[in-house]
Amino acid sequence: MTAAITPGSWEAIQSAVDCALTGVELVESGERSAFALCRPPGHHAAPDLMGGYCYINNAAIAAEAFIRNGHKKVAILDIDYHHGNGTQSIFYNRNDVLFVSIHGDPDYDYPHYLGFADETGDGEGAGFNLNLPLPQEKTDWSLYGPALETALAKIREFGADVLVISLGMDTYENDPISYFKLNRDNYAQIGSMLGKLGLPTLFVFEGGYAVDDLGHNTVAVLDGFKSA
Ligand SMILES: [Zn+2]
Repeated sequence: MTAAITPGSWEAIQSAVDCALTGVELVESGERSAFALCRPPGHHAAPDLMGGYCYINNAAIAAEAFIRNGHKKVAILDIDYHHGNGTQSIFYNRNDVLFVSIHGDPDYDYPHYLGFADETGDGEGAGFNLNLPLPQEKTDWSLYGPALETALAKIREFGADVLVISLGMDTYENDPISYFKLNRDNYAQIGSMLGKLGLPTLFVFEGGYAVDDLGHNTVAVLDGFKSA
């Protein structure tokens, strides 16, 4: 997967970062949650790497902004179908930002070289990175739900004071480039489970390619969150 650059790219890239930072401001001003509809997405972007349609890591910048605003423990949960290799790379040596990702097995799926379960953080960051890869074509709610429970337990144990969700919607059963089998009811359930954490939450939009259903599925997550 590439990340091409055209004359309008930088304007879009910078506006996506600004959108995420506006979301941070809304949460800091007391909103329970905010949704940053960022395009392009960001979770494959590392400090020295772009790829997978990502240039600048919107979710990572948002997490860092929360830290600079005085938060002590920021959790990032990445539920895009693909591992958030960029976000992991940025925080791999840190213990103030926990990174948790549920994604397709990188033996078969992009980004291929990161996202394995034995990547748990390094140095001060040891133990603050949790990867939950799931089998490519077999993953429906029966596997996804328990993985999400494991992710949420890790976030509770960490004692996060704010939550950033890298909200990728390419786990959908009809997504044209991915292989999980989640449906709209599952998205409402995901939203509800996230809401029950009771944390101030910023949703940052990542992938999602079933464009006819993308809006409805995203709203299902956000509605589930609101009603939790
Ligand atoms: Zn993705």
